[in-house]
Amino acid sequence: MISRVLVANRGEIAVRVIRACRDLGLTAVAVYSEADADALHVSLADEAVPIGPAPARSSYLDVSQVVGAARDTNCDAVHPGYGFLAENPALPRACQAAGLVFVGPPAEVIERVGDKVSARAAAEAAHVPVVPGSGRLASAGAALEYATEVGFPVLLKAAAGGGGRGIRRVGSAEELPAEFTSAAREAESAFGDGGLFVEKCIVDARHVEIQVLADAHGSVVHLGERECSLQRRRQKLVEEAPAPGLPEALRKEIGAAAVRLAREVGYRGAGTVEFLVDPSTWAYYFIEVNARIQVEHGITELVTGVDLVATQLRIADGSPLPFAQDEVVARGVAMEFRINAEDPARGFFPSPGTLSLMRPPAGPGVRVDTGFESGRVVPPFYDSLLAKLMVWAPDRPAALARARRALAELRVEGVATTAALHGRILDWPDFVAGRYHTGSLEAFLNG
Ligand code: ADP
Ligand code: ADP
Ligand code: MG
Repeated sequence: MISRVLVANRGEIAVRVIRACRDLGLTAVAVYSEADADALHVSLADEAVPIGPAPARSSYLDVSQVVGAARDTNCDAVHPGYGFLAENPALPRACQAAGLVFVGPPAEVIERVGDKVSARAAAEAAHVPVVPGSGRLASAGAALEYATEVGFPVLLKAAAGGGGRGIRRVGSAEELPAEFTSAAREAESAFGDGGLFVEKCIVDARHVEIQVLADAHGSVVHLGERECSLQRRRQKLVEEAPAPGLPEALRKEIGAAAVRLAREVGYRGAGTVEFLVDPSTWAYYFIEVNARIQVEHGITELVTGVDLVATQLRIADGSPLPFAQDEVVARGVAMEFRINAEDPARGFFPSPGTLSLMRPPAGPGVRVDTGFESGRVVPPFYDSLLAKLMVWAPDRPAALARARRALAELRVEGVATTAALHGRILDWPDFVAGRYHTGSLEAFLNG
């Protein structure tokens, strides 16, 4: 039985995991870098261990520091959160060697789905439609040949990519060689793997993703979809569940496809299968698997009532899923607004600093997940996510009203944030109507 969990992360997701541990009666041990000694997740944990200097490479990304901290504090499990080591198979391997339970899929599964090219092959094996695309390409010449065959525009994508990095849209043959070189360089420095492939660009696509849960006993269920089309630089800014206007039959079909893929790879734990949906034809295409808890998991929790993080911990402990597919019911509408410490007026440039005031909204149907509060410092070294403002209401108009109310209650002083932009989005007719795709926000910002 798991009783002490090392939380191998920081910020809001570390706080979220600590809360799930407490709810289950488990002891939560935090880790922190020198920049995070005074962070909220450290205050909230039962114990906390320093794991090195501020740069993530020397602390949160250091497998031996993390596993050493778990061993030194007699933990029996490690929860990686998202980002950092969450999708690095070296962490589950090191955990296994140290006799620790890793709260996530087996290393081999992370390896197979973590690489976008091999994940696409797994999707095809599971009869899940994929975006027309190539395998890994050795040269710009090979990319050009494939792109000419499927037709421009195409995307050059890093096989090891994540967080919207290592992706280039290429509109014509002339642009391709330079983009190939720069994408390969970016992928090499961000992921240590410069491997690229080409995908046909699905123009004006919607990003619709399915939450799945799989236990160690062969049971796999999905918890419906999230619409994540509101993006800038291919990074999500607002998410909602369910996806507005998605036909019921399509919703079922995409859910079933995600479950087939999870079964195909022997998935275990919580994961997300991402798809693009073409709203002009309702064709759908697999793009990638995120083999971890997702930033936007809270909106699925709000509509289904399932605690995803607690369920991850129970699955890791060997418990069977406590419900079957036909017992999953999504009620109402939930939305998430990412409050980032970024300045939208300066190209979303990060805005670290001391939070002289942070007053989150509260009241009916409002949930705020954050790793910060008044007086705490947002360090410049990590992700700029300050808080996730989530709302739930019985229907979409009520959710929009509640979001406006919650946003008006929020006060953050000392750093620039995306809060005011969310106010504009909530007054934007296309968003209010639920008619938007992955290109809409950038058009709105530039228009
Ligand atoms: P989502 O969970 O919404 O799909 P992303 O996939 O963009 O979000 O990434 C989740 C988090 O992990 C983000 O905070 C992002 O900055 C971080 N992240 C994504 N990929 C990497 C990576 N390769 N290395 C470190 N952090 C990453
Ligand atoms: P990451 O691992 O960085 O999250 P994804 O493959 O999930 O990369 O793609 C990120 C975003 O890029 C998608 O949500 C979508 O907006 C856009 N995108 C990815 N692939 C395509 C494609 N083939 N056509 C059009 N847009 C795409
Ligand atoms: Mg993605």
